[in-house]
Amino acid sequence: MIRLVSIILIGLVIILALVLLKYKPSYKVTIAGEELGYVTSKKEFEQLVNEQILYPDEIDVAFVDIQEMPKYNFLFIENTKQTDEEEIFSKIQEMAVTTYKMYAIMLNDDISTYVHSKEEAEEVIAKIKDEKAEELEEINITMKEIYTQNKEETQNAIEVASAKEVAEVSLEEKVIEQQKIKESTLDGVYFAVKPITGHITSRFGAMEDIRDHAHQGMDIAAPNGTTIKAAADGTVTYAGSMGGYGNLVIISHGNGIQTYYGHCSKIYVSVGTQVTAGDSIAAVGSTGNSTGNHLHFEIRKNGAQINPQKYLYK
Ligand SMILES: [Zn+2]
Repeated sequence: MIRLVSIILIGLVIILALVLLKYKPSYKVTIAGEELGYVTSKKEFEQLVNEQILYPDEIDVAFVDIQEMPKYNFLFIENTKQTDEEEIFSKIQEMAVTTYKMYAIMLNDDISTYVHSKEEAEEVIAKIKDEKAEELEEINITMKEIYTQNKEETQNAIEVASAKEVAEVSLEEKVIEQQKIKESTLDGVYFAVKPITGHITSRFGAMEDIRDHAHQGMDIAAPNGTTIKAAADGTVTYAGSMGGYGNLVIISHGNGIQTYYGHCSKIYVSVGTQVTAGDSIAAVGSTGNSTGNHLHFEIRKNGAQINPQKYLYK
């Protein structure tokens, strides 16, 4: 009996030895039904895929998506057959979609700069809040998670000390910008754009021979046909000829604020047109009570003219 078992065991060992002469153990790798090839060691290969593709230890990687995790099936393949570790690795790499994460330092709604982590963003914000309390009275500093699948974009993330410097410069610029906006705003209407650039030939309040009262607007000389732009966002409420104004555009900006653009050679808008500051509304001319090509510009509040140079052409 013992002899028989021994013979069977020896036989099995011989068969196994013969098998191993011709075949070797391996793993077939499959993803989502697609056979990618064979690897020798499941353990080593899986570890490589995990460390380098699926769970890389890189600061900016948020997560890696793959259609399906690779499946490994044990089987024997012919000894002479090469396994495909490199090729399979590249294929898995191609299939994997890596999403990167950064943190933007925001001043109001504008991105100032980027750092790599939430902790860094918190550090930058805490330092700036500490040092620039006064500047931050009217400007909010916040952080925002930014996701991207473009690895190159993560190069925008910089170190804490540099990010702090960049954000402080942006903050100073924003303070100046906000001050400017404030100084050019009347009852919530921001006069963002000079209607034309040119030489100021008559200021508000000037007494001149051409009229028997003080000037109710300002005159800016420019060649015939020069584009006139809307000074602020609003709605056109008059577009046509009106006495001494000649061809006139009136824009209403809300809160009883209006702007007047007189002596135009052409008018490009009509009553009801919604305009944004900077939109073309008319062309410079010399229609109406005028002695040369210029724009007569007025700002009115509840019908009364006020000095436009309080807000524009300062
Ligand atoms: Zn005038």
